[in-house]
Amino acid sequence: MTFEKKCLVESADILAVHYECGECHATIVVPIHKGSPQQVMMLAMSKCAYCQTAFGFGVGTSDMERLCAFSEQLQRLNEIMKGKNLKLKLEIKCPESFASRASGGTD
Ligand SMILES: [Zn+2]
Repeated sequence: MTFEKKCLVESADILAVHYECGECHATIVVPIHKGSPQQVMMLAMSKCAYCQTAFGFGVGTSDMERLCAFSEQLQRLNEIMKGKNLKLKLEIKCPESFASRASGGTD
């Protein structure tokens, strides 16, 4: 018998997006709510509060638009899926501890 472990995240379980500074790894958590696209835009065009490195998103660039659109879609996803007979689940890479258990390894 073979078992395969899958790690799935249901849309209703997505509560926030964690943005991490690529330089010092400080994390900014943006909860998913109506104002989150604006909050993400302000964050992306600023710099890290800890190491002062710019995040690299320019005002009005297509990269900035896409990032804000992603945030907006994520915020609307829960409303869209509510009351439907369809569940949206994202498959993510399982953390190593889950993967080793699934393949019979020990912790
Ligand atoms: Zn930083």
